[in-house]
Parts: sequence; structure tokens; C-alpha cells
Amino acid sequence: MIKAEHIYKNFGDIHVLKDVSMEVNKGEVVVIIGPSGSGKSTFLRCINLLEEPTKGQVQIDDQNLTELSPKQVVKVREKVGMVFQHFYLFPHKTVLENLIYAPMKVKGLSRDEAVARAKELLKKVGLFDKINQYPNKLSGGQQQRVAIARSLAMEPDYMLFDEPTSALDPEMVKEVLDVIQSLAESGMTMIIVTHEMGFAKMVADKVIFMDDGQILESNTPENFFNHPSTERAKDFLQKIL
Ligand code: ADP
Ligand code: MG
Repeated sequence: MIKAEHIYKNFGDIHVLKDVSMEVNKGEVVVIIGPSGSGKSTFLRCINLLEEPTKGQVQIDDQNLTELSPKQVVKVREKVGMVFQHFYLFPHKTVLENLIYAPMKVKGLSRDEAVARAKELLKKVGLFDKINQYPNKLSGGQQQRVAIARSLAMEPDYMLFDEPTSALDPEMVKEVLDVIQSLAESGMTMIIVTHEMGFAKMVADKVIFMDDGQILESNTPENFFNHPSTERAKDFLQKIL
């Protein structure tokens, strides 16, 4: 379970998050949507303490992240995989090397174990034939699928996605969303920031609408898309759909 309680985040005088609370239970998929600059990325980054909240608490399973030592935070953060808009693969490493690096270095897997896991995951994301390629030889969609596989190689309990398809050419969006959807079907607990509304409708158990650093709506996808309860959400949907 992930629980964020009354999160505030300021950058100097800028109040980016203003009392944001939410809960994600095991197996749930929560989709966060909202205009650019509303604080979605900052919120995700607060959840795995890439940013430290100015105020408020983040709980993962039974641990309160804000009370842990830096060492403990690193441990808890291993439970939470994150995939960004830009893929951040290691450019000088092959696909295989990208996938085995952290499991060996951080989790202490043997090379054989890490390679076996990597192969399994590459099959899952449909890129087994690219195992020895370098990232710059892959399309954006393929790179993002490698980035997802790399994150999964750490066997996280939770996955956070921050606009995973926003940097992709349109024809590559589906292959990435399909991978995320199959993860959802396998029961992975996830928070996904996306502008792909069709996808959101399909995979979300809960849709959260953020605007100006606050959660304005938290709803089922059916209710949110058919009967948004705030004017801001109505407005946003009209512009985007
Ligand atoms: P979103 O992901 O919804 O587009 P962000 O969380 O990226 O929104 O940003 C929300 C606001 O916080 C923006 O106004 C942005 O400029 C500001 N912001 C984000 N990170 C920083 C930072 N490190 N320093 C100062 N301002 C920031
Ligand atoms: Mg963002």
C-alpha cells in the first residue's frame, strides 16, 4: 500500500503541492491526470522521495518514509520502480547490460541470475531479439519498453509512470501502453501520470484529477469521464478529448 498524507511541497516561494493526500492499495491502478504544471511529477517524485515533501507523510507498506534514515529510504525505494517520459537508459551499455546492472550491483544477484531474469523480461516486453543492441539503435518505443523491463528487473512491488508515452512518436505509443496494460492485468500496483485518456479509462481503478497543486477529483473512470464533478475537470477534458 502507498499512502500519501497531506503532502505540501514548496520550491522557495512557489507552492507546488498544497495538501495532497491519496492512497493506493495492493493491485490497484491509479491514473493521475491534469494540466501541465499542476504538480503531477512533483507528487510522484515525493512518493519515492526523489523530492522531500516540505510537509506531510508518505507511507509505503508499514513504513513511514519521512521518518527513515537515508539508508532505510534507499531500501524502501527499491520496492518502487519509476519510469519517466525520457528513458534514461545507459547509452554505453547494451540492452542486456542495462537490465542486469542494478540487480547485480544493488540486489546482489549473480550474473547468471540477472541474465536469466533479463531474458525473461525482454520476452515479456517483446524485445528479446534486441538483447545485444545499444539503446541508440532502438526506436523510442523500444527504448521505453527496455526502460520498463529494466525497472521490473528490480522486482518492485509498485511502479510509478510519469507520462511514459509523451516523448514518443504517435505510432509507438500503443506498444508501450500495451506493456503497461499487461502489467496492470498481472496485478501490479501502479500510479500512472498520462494524457492518454482511452488508456486511462481502460486500466484505471481510480482517476485522480490534479490542478494547481491540489487533487480536485478522485473518482472511478466511468464517473470521472462521464460526469466530472468540477468545472476545471470538465474544461480540461473538453480540451484534451
Ligand atoms: P506537472 O508534472 O503536472 O507538469 P510539475 O510537478 O513538473 O508539474 O511542476 C509543477 C510546478 O512546480 C511547475 O510550476 C514547476 O515549474 C514547478 N517546479 C517543479 N520542480 C521544480 C524545482 N525543482 N524548482 C522550482 N520549481 C519547480
Ligand atoms: Mg510532469
